[in-house]
Amino acid sequence: MTDTMLCESLASARQRLADAAARAGRPAESVRLLAVSKTKPAERIREAWQLGQREFGENYVQEALDKQAALVDLPDIVWHFIGPLQSNKTRAVAEHFAWVHSVDREKVARRLNDQRPAGLGPLNVCLQVNVSDEATKSGVHLADLATLAQAVQALPRLRLRGLMAIPAPAEGLAAQREPLARLRQAFEELQARYPKAPLDTLSMGMSDDLEAAVLEGATLVRLGSAIFGSRDTPTR
Ligand SMILES: *Cc1c(COP(=O)(O)O)cnc(C)c1O
Repeated sequence: MTDTMLCESLASARQRLADAAARAGRPAESVRLLAVSKTKPAERIREAWQLGQREFGENYVQEALDKQAALVDLPDIVWHFIGPLQSNKTRAVAEHFAWVHSVDREKVARRLNDQRPAGLGPLNVCLQVNVSDEATKSGVHLADLATLAQAVQALPRLRLRGLMAIPAPAEGLAAQREPLARLRQAFEELQARYPKAPLDTLSMGMSDDLEAAVLEGATLVRLGSAIFGSRDTPTR
């Protein structure tokens, strides 16, 4: 992909997001754009940064650390970890990311809390929820969400910001909205239970279901292929 193409695809992703917000009757600024850069080289991220993009999502720890090292000169870049998180990888994530979207069990949350360096602010956390049951393995089930949220909420080095989901692929707006609506409802229940917590992030919507997610109240959408083109082979 050339720079011109990235410039165009980023502009059209931003436009798509603005159109989706307008259609949902929401201000465009109410939805943040996370650029998912997994499998893409550091140079593509640098180009996107030069085009004004600041928040990037990565799925594989080692790949992300390599790119972060190549991009240390970029001020105000914000790294989000969005991939499956094994407990033996929590230290690197606690030390090198501002956000984690994929916390789905207490053990991982405790390790992130214990390993978050004192010199950094609390790690921003979204709990990953399994809203499509059998289809995906990752994510806490809705029935267990309240217990996990309570545990995370009590950890001082974590800041519980909201919920994330990756629904099973579905065709058509109505079918796409269904699981997203469940996540939104769970999010609203959480906000009601912890009225003083900074619960402001509903992380849902990818390249194929962005419009449905914005209609259901997403505050952060995670776009990969819509910005960077189809995925390269993972470098894990
Ligand atoms: C890869 C990935 C995305 C981006 O997916 P696209 O369909 O390419 O937009 C978003 N969220 C997560 C958790 C991902 O792993």
